[in-house]
Amino acid sequence: MDIETRTHTALHIVKGALVKVLGDKARWTTSAYVDGNHGRIHIEFDHKPSDEEVMLIEEKVNQVIKEDRDIEILKLDREEAEEKWGDWIYDRFPIPEKIKELDIFHLPGWNVNACNKKHTKTTGEVGKISIVKTRFRNSRNELEVSYDIDD
Ligand SMILES: [Zn+2]
Repeated sequence: MDIETRTHTALHIVKGALVKVLGDKARWTTSAYVDGNHGRIHIEFDHKPSDEEVMLIEEKVNQVIKEDRDIEILKLDREEAEEKWGDWIYDRFPIPEKIKELDIFHLPGWNVNACNKKHTKTTGEVGKISIVKTRFRNSRNELEVSYDIDD
């Protein structure tokens, strides 16, 4: 499996863990980057998480990877997807109104997101991840989480 596909899939798993540990207010992704086995996600948030919380996030991500869960990729009518999941499918970067059909990444009980990129079929294919850095920017109410996945 292509390294960037694995690193990108990890974004969704990390995002799910952020919401589990930090709560629903961690739900808005503002941007995301993938470069080789390095990934970085920015979310809206209002304080710096504790070291314990960061450790717990990493632990939860690796637990879900270890469980080798199936990832569902769905093609859904936009209205149908919104009825099902509301704005949980969206990030802070809007999808143009004219797009009426969405590709949905769904890891049941963990993360749902309109995303048309390539993903692994299971969480196990991602490989182990390590959170290498977190940075909170007060002025922007933004939390940045950087991680690496094992090559
Ligand atoms: Zn994706």
